[in-house]
Amino acid sequence: MAAQETVDHKYVYDFSEGNKELKDLLGGKGANLAEMTNLGLPVPPGFTITTEACQAYLATGQQPDGLAGQIEAHLEALEREMGKRLGDPQDPLLVSVRSGAKFSMPGMMETVLNVGLNDQSVQGLARQASGGGGQAASGGADRFAWDSYRRLIQMFGKTVCEVPGEEFEHALDEAKSAKGTHNDLDLDADDLRGLVDAYKKIFLKHTGREFPQQPREQLDLAIRAVFESWNAERAILYRRQERIPTDLGTAVNVVTMVFGNLGPDSGTGVAFTRDPASGAQGIYGDYLANAQGEDVVAGIRNTVPLQELEQLDKTSYDQLLGIMARLEEHYKDLCDIEFTIERGKLWMLQTRVGKRTAAAAFVIAGQLVDEGLIDLDEALHRVNGAQLAQLMFPRFQLDHEFQPVAKGIGASPGAASGTVVFTSARAVEMAAEGKSVILVRRETNPDDLNGMIAAQGILTSRGGKTSHAAVVARGMGKTCVSGADEIEVNVPAKRFTVAGQTVNEGDVVSIDGTTGKVYLGEVPVMPSEVVQYFEGSLDPEHIDNALVRAVHRIMTHADGKRRLAVRTNADTGADAARARRFGAEGIGLCRTEHMFLGDRRELVERLILARAPGEREAALEALLPLQRADFEEIFREMDGLPVTVRLIDPPLHEFLPPLEQLAVNVAVAQERGEDVAKEEALLAAVRRMHEENPMLGLRGVRLGLVIPGLFAMQVRAIAEAAVACARGGGVAKPEIMVPLVGAVQELETVRAEAEKIIAEVVGDSGVEVLIGTMIEVPRAALTAGQIAEAAEFFSFGTNDLTQMGWGFSRDDVEGAFFWRYLELGIFGISPFESIDRDGVGRLVRIAAEEGRAARPGLKLGVCGEHGGDPDSVHFFHEVGLDYVSCSPFRVPVARLEAGRAVVETGGSDSR
Ligand code: PEP
Ligand code: MG
Repeated sequence: MAAQETVDHKYVYDFSEGNKELKDLLGGKGANLAEMTNLGLPVPPGFTITTEACQAYLATGQQPDGLAGQIEAHLEALEREMGKRLGDPQDPLLVSVRSGAKFSMPGMMETVLNVGLNDQSVQGLARQASGGGGQAASGGADRFAWDSYRRLIQMFGKTVCEVPGEEFEHALDEAKSAKGTHNDLDLDADDLRGLVDAYKKIFLKHTGREFPQQPREQLDLAIRAVFESWNAERAILYRRQERIPTDLGTAVNVVTMVFGNLGPDSGTGVAFTRDPASGAQGIYGDYLANAQGEDVVAGIRNTVPLQELEQLDKTSYDQLLGIMARLEEHYKDLCDIEFTIERGKLWMLQTRVGKRTAAAAFVIAGQLVDEGLIDLDEALHRVNGAQLAQLMFPRFQLDHEFQPVAKGIGASPGAASGTVVFTSARAVEMAAEGKSVILVRRETNPDDLNGMIAAQGILTSRGGKTSHAAVVARGMGKTCVSGADEIEVNVPAKRFTVAGQTVNEGDVVSIDGTTGKVYLGEVPVMPSEVVQYFEGSLDPEHIDNALVRAVHRIMTHADGKRRLAVRTNADTGADAARARRFGAEGIGLCRTEHMFLGDRRELVERLILARAPGEREAALEALLPLQRADFEEIFREMDGLPVTVRLIDPPLHEFLPPLEQLAVNVAVAQERGEDVAKEEALLAAVRRMHEENPMLGLRGVRLGLVIPGLFAMQVRAIAEAAVACARGGGVAKPEIMVPLVGAVQELETVRAEAEKIIAEVVGDSGVEVLIGTMIEVPRAALTAGQIAEAAEFFSFGTNDLTQMGWGFSRDDVEGAFFWRYLELGIFGISPFESIDRDGVGRLVRIAAEEGRAARPGLKLGVCGEHGGDPDSVHFFHEVGLDYVSCSPFRVPVARLEAGRAVVETGGSDSR
């Protein structure tokens, strides 16, 4: 077609020239129309103007050189093929002008139908329509033609010339009320002719010109309007939300019009080749006789199930079923389809690989393997960790109308309903009575741990995705909504207010940790079958559950593929046991700070306040057996697997009461003349230890170097627990990890002391204890070669590495201003959620390379929150880490993604 094009850059492709791989150039719709054309399916002829033409137009405000000529040539070829000319007064060719970007942006950009109609060709269209049968022959042809013309003026006016759409709507309403009806279909040809006049007046009023009668001018203006719709405000917003790059541009499809509204033997419909909700095989779709696609969207009449088409038009129905089977086989995936029947002739208007639910994604991937259409590598590629994570959370059954009263940050997914409580103690009490509770706080702190364990869900009015509440809840797999700032929490009064309503302790609320929505009252919740499977209570070989079987099969394949090991972050025996059932191959981070809370707090106070010689030692001695017991429990649960125990990290004053509260208590007690010597000493200590920037203060290794005996006690507890485990016939593999190291000298100092203790405790028990460090201070990453000399392993603490790499306070910034950064596109996702490959990721890469260069056998892992984030797992695979460590509930997600990382990098890595 069109030989003269060869000298120009090619901007226009006939449908017969493209294929489904050309989505970048032809957009999704154009590429798939081309693919169907080449399969010999009945696609109305047409052509696609490329995204490159759009990009050039948007950059300069002008059509690129050669485009006009190429459009002309393709239009002429189309006219020859159809035996009609665009807008011919006798028998017009009409076309639709449709947007179609690489990524689907439903309803975001523009479409103009019926281009080519004018005052003459409307008559020709009517004559041609009456040549057929059905309604059109019996006088409906005029009506059909005038209705098509008024639709063109309306769409063209609104889209191309920015005429306010309401004015057309208003004129249509007036025409209907003049006729005494609410239904468009009651308007006859004369009414519609009158409406065309009214529309033209509206057009003139707003544009200062007559509605263009030249078909070619209509076409050119419509094409420009589609280009420009790429930068419409709503499209920009949508792209930002969906993280679609801004510079792709849209293709424009110029397609011969076919009409589903030519009588009862015409119609339009949508279909899926499988159920997009469950993945079940079968025919799913809707059909609307005597209608255009836009009528379906407008809901003018109710559609019927696609199966009913069999009665209405068996030939088209059978042909459609054949095409659906063909498309599935060709695309090797679920397809969705739009079609129109024009007087008994079936036309395919669109197809694409269909969107589906998380459950359907797994089920369909499994089915396609069974059908021999794809292999297991491809099945693994077709699902993802985000879908698996979704399947692991309980869900709300939101069938009835539940309106949220507030929206916060979906901090830890899942769905939970329960009685509102405001304190940890009350949560524990009520949970002990068998009640499901939601712990509501302004923000949580380590003291709330028991309450969080007891609660079904956690709701806070402050804090982001890495706030204490969020991190701890994710670790426990507990639902959490954080930063719901419409909620005013009043803990002393035991109530919160939201949207003018007061919720008291004892009232019921429901929170959705995926969407961040908060509901008043109880929304019913369903447990996850996938978790039941991971927990071992559903056997995939013996149950009739397509989802569980598909998950089992794909997970098994991922495990066989992956190179990265997956460990877990767990601080208790219970968490460790659960993570092990979920497939964890060790503990990558056991935080020891919770072991200093609860009834041990008093010992910590003694440790901090120690004045006289011997007091500190006594406190440490009392803590030792308690810590040892904690570690023994964990080593038992992880028998035979490595356990990385991190020495205490947070500043010690976090274990003391807050300054303000203490100051008030002391003042009140002094007023009453009570003996407050102890409280005063505590207050003085808290004041002494107060820091402006505690995250950059006395914490981690610095604490170990400043408080004599603290790390030594922990090292001894770990070594003794390991020996006890070995003596009891188990295999403990402890790895002691030093937090917040920035210089090798820090690590060397800790190491020297630790080695002595270990040698003394371990003796000939056969226990081997590794000593390594976290890499979470940028300086540590940049001096990794030196640090590796003193470390047998590195574990990247990407939470702190992100905090210190960006200079973002991890507890504050997400709620404070990330929304603006996301809005401005400074980043597409919080760097606390998914690793910032270019910056923080570069630090990881440098440290991994330089660390391994200095010590070839250096074991490398990651234990920040990123260890369970799908995209970050791929990055850690690429960088060559040995393992990722994440909260127990993310373990299956990390296993899956580690397998996908191998498949996607084309590796055949198998462990
Ligand atoms: C980290 O900083 O990434 C880390 C795992 O340590 P924490 O979150 O306990 O500071
Ligand atoms: Mg840290």
